[in-house]
Amino acid sequence: MTRRMAARMGRREALVGLGAGAVAVGLPLVEAGAADAPSKKNRLKVIVAGAHPDDPESAAGGTMARYSDLGHDVVCLYLTRGEAGMKGKTHEEAAKIRTAEAEKACEILKARALFAGQVDGSTEVNATRYDEFFKLLNAEKPDVVFTHWPVDSHRDHRVTSLLVYDAWLKSGKKFALFYFEVDAGAQTQMFRPTHFVDITDTEERKRKACYAHTDAPSFYPSYHELMNRFRGLECGRKYAEAFVHHYAGAPGALP
Ligand SMILES: [Zn+2]
Repeated sequence: MTRRMAARMGRREALVGLGAGAVAVGLPLVEAGAADAPSKKNRLKVIVAGAHPDDPESAAGGTMARYSDLGHDVVCLYLTRGEAGMKGKTHEEAAKIRTAEAEKACEILKARALFAGQVDGSTEVNATRYDEFFKLLNAEKPDVVFTHWPVDSHRDHRVTSLLVYDAWLKSGKKFALFYFEVDAGAQTQMFRPTHFVDITDTEERKRKACYAHTDAPSFYPSYHELMNRFRGLECGRKYAEAFVHHYAGAPGALP
């Protein structure tokens, strides 16, 4: 654990730095309440990077709500604006609708929306894209970054994962890197969590944020409701979100 991270962890220890296969439930970084709100110096910058509007929310919405409730800065970074995701709509129309939905979801989670400018269904990994993404991410100076687990049936999800991983390497592994899951079993596969965050208290807000997206009925009840319940069963809570922590980076601090 670096001194900087330790200083930012607040009064209660976050569960971090566990060995491969270890499983733990995160505890709040600091206790709730105004008196415990982190000072500007101790505030974490948390980025949740997903390929499409709805990915960060459905993967880690409960965790984002916990971070923002604790006074940390939370950013939803969307690689695309979901241009190809609405039947009967042009890319331009879909991007407009899905951008507005993403912004509404972020409002519910008290997060800020940021768009990386690639196009849904046509995302690219090449030297230019790596550099462009690194610049964007590095400018945010994140302490903790979450992104897609790379074994995923959706190309855009895999692209996002690689871009984040490359930026993490290029940053000198400066920030904590966590992988998340979406549509577990159907999209994300072979995912074996190292850490869990209890989202029992924030599941309702996560759900609301997901339902800011018109396509939520097609993914929330059949995938994410089940996923959160299943991960909850694994760690003895009602609802949980699960992550894989890259052991070679900063330890991170889960809420
Ligand atoms: Zn997606």
